[in-house]
Amino acid sequence: MRDPADASRIAVERRRARAAVKNSIARGERDPLSVARFAWDNIDSAEAGLRITEYLGAMPGVGAIKVPRILEAVDISSRKRLGALGRHQRERLTAWLVARGATGKTRPTRGRLIVVAGPTAVGKGTVVARIRDKHPDVRFSVSATTRAPRPGETEGVHYFFVSDDEFDRVVAAHQMLEWAVVHGQNRYGTPRAPIVEALERGDSIILEIDIQGARQVKAAMPEAILVFLLPPSWEELVRRLESRGTEDSAEQARRLETARTELAAQDEFDETIVNDDVDRAAEAVVHLMTNH
Ligand code: 5GP
Repeated sequence: MRDPADASRIAVERRRARAAVKNSIARGERDPLSVARFAWDNIDSAEAGLRITEYLGAMPGVGAIKVPRILEAVDISSRKRLGALGRHQRERLTAWLVARGATGKTRPTRGRLIVVAGPTAVGKGTVVARIRDKHPDVRFSVSATTRAPRPGETEGVHYFFVSDDEFDRVVAAHQMLEWAVVHGQNRYGTPRAPIVEALERGDSIILEIDIQGARQVKAAMPEAILVFLLPPSWEELVRRLESRGTEDSAEQARRLETARTELAAQDEFDETIVNDDVDRAAEAVVHLMTNH
């Protein structure tokens, strides 16, 4: 006879597996029809073990009130498990799902949205450039900005350089996932469509934006992984800002002031990476794209 402790462990594992299937339906990661077909082909699977009520209730837009009505419409008992439906019940359920827009296609798992932020001059740009170099397959969001291009910057690669009016129009059309005034001067924003498309396709994408933007992304897409790049020390941060020579001293002072408040925000982030070595920091970010 099987050890009763084993049996209860197996029961717990089965419940957990069924909960994972329900969650993937609820998040839209798995098409309900493909789940049903999988259940019918694999009668011992977690999918097959789902109660029909749990299965229907997990679908986006179907609540506890709708479940009994649906069961009545497809003439299936609420006690049934998905894998145990008869041929006619399967046909009626399939027809109902198709009418509701189910495709039966197995969608790729959604890509990851990685947001890299950190105080000014921490070397975000350098880390991102290193990732571009070493991992040409990694996708980056291209922000829109109202600031003028710097020497060496290319339209559509580093930024979309736009006028104030154009920026206004895109914001008014709700086409920005987030946007912010950075360093009290120019506006920067992340166009929403390319992000949504990449994630839907199953591609991961990196956003290199400021902290206000990172907060907005987390609010809009809680699944985003927020990464905070830290300088090895405050002194090193000051040194990096002064030595890059792209800002005059008034601008440097303004950016250091921003950096002080920005450093205080690190606890809001999911991960912190110390940028003491560019290669190591770059690899740590890339690692998060597949393991988190
Ligand atoms: P820079 O002018 O040096 O290229 O960028 C200044 C700051 O703007 C950087 O901290 C950068 O992370 C931030 N930034 C760039 N693009 C975006 C964006 O789309 N949204 C937000 N919120 N910040 C951005």
